Amino acid sequence: MSLAISEQTSPLWQSGPKPEVLPVLEEDHSCDVCVVGLGGSGLATLKKLCEGGLSVIGIDAGRIAGKAAGANGGFLLAGMARFYHQARQTIGAEKARLIYQSTIEEIERMCGETPEAIRLTGSLRIATSPEEAADCQAQLEAMREDRLPVSPYFGPEGEGLLFPTDGSFNPWLRCRLLTGQVIALGANLYENTPALTVAPGKVVTPAGTVRCREVVVAVDGGLEVLMPALKGRVRTARLQMLATAPAPEVDFPRPVYARYGLEYWQQLPDGRIALGGFRDKGGDGEWGNLSQPSPQIQAMLDKFLRETLGVEAPVTHRWAAPVGFTENGLPVMEALEKGLWVMGGYCGTGNVIGAICGRTIAGLILDAFHSS
Ligand SMILES: Cc1cc2nc3c(=O)[nH]c(=O)nc-3n(C[C@H](O)[C@H](O)[C@H](O)COP(=O)(O)OP(=O)(O)OC[C@H]3O[C@@H](n4cnc5c(N)ncnc54)[C@H](O)[C@@H]3O)c2cc1C
Repeated sequence: MSLAISEQTSPLWQSGPKPEVLPVLEEDHSCDVCVVGLGGSGLATLKKLCEGGLSVIGIDAGRIAGKAAGANGGFLLAGMARFYHQARQTIGAEKARLIYQSTIEEIERMCGETPEAIRLTGSLRIATSPEEAADCQAQLEAMREDRLPVSPYFGPEGEGLLFPTDGSFNPWLRCRLLTGQVIALGANLYENTPALTVAPGKVVTPAGTVRCREVVVAVDGGLEVLMPALKGRVRTARLQMLATAPAPEVDFPRPVYARYGLEYWQQLPDGRIALGGFRDKGGDGEWGNLSQPSPQIQAMLDKFLRETLGVEAPVTHRWAAPVGFTENGLPVMEALEKGLWVMGGYCGTGNVIGAICGRTIAGLILDAFHSS
């Protein structure tokens, strides 16, 4: 696609100096656990493993947080991809409530861990049709029944629901801060080191093999490419965003999502807008392990920015990254075989649940190590 000269195809979050590139893995190594994929989920896994005293190696095919983890909308939302009342139908009320509660607690924990990157702003779900307003009402009733924090919202953004415990963050900055923390705890991290094959106890890369007791694959978009056993369960699609220069003509104090979460935007403290959406309008072209923005979706984002949000500020960034989807809206988090863990498929909402999955797997691994 052709860009205005001043527009960049990197995420807004990654503006500013680039951190030093970490080494490529160049010889054979051994450790307790090898984590493949250094986004927010992989880094959360590594941190807990290090704190538990295990020796760990983490590798990424590109830069740390170079995919969705450093390129997303920056929403920290409680719950999972499906709205609460739908999650209750899929997994039952008790499980849905426990998971929702644990995501609220995870947001608080993340905030304590990297306060520089996170703002606890709350978030808004805005209805764009009478059907969606009825869906918001169903969500409100289900959440109130289970005593979860939510209130009806009427304001300049529209009508819908306010979730007071949600937050917004710079996802890339958080990953960079976590990287520093896990290195300080003793993790050995390698960039530009793709896993060519992954098997229990063995990760093969172009210039070296890691032998270990446990392997954790923490890849959201493209999980089914690296782990073909998951083909048919995880399918990767591209999500696209743009960002603008400071836009003093509008005021969005908290992140907003609308049209069942398909469009989402937030305004940063300096006034810049980050806006994403319209994945469903791109047809088959949006499916695949794709990382480049497309003219078709970007034009829709432009129109929405100008006509619906009323933003006049120029666009400065356009970007895209892949995420994994599952049929039932639930993430994948399991041992594919003994000693080989996989997680991903967060259906576009992996910032909080991905960290929970990573920390859960790390906890199971630590239990196994300490009981053997
Ligand atoms: C535009 C956009 C907006 C989004 N908005 C939100 C939001 O507001 N809130 C929210 O909760 N979620 C959002 N998401 C989803 C969220 O970003 C992801 O679910 C989450 O970041 C996934 O993080 P991860 O660490 O699990 O995986 P990833 O970010 O996919 O990281 C996996 C890493 O694995 C590496 N890798 C891949 N293959 C290999 C290999 N063979 N060998 C070694 N390394 C490999 C990749 O390079 C990558 O760095 C959004 C996503 C996008 C793209």
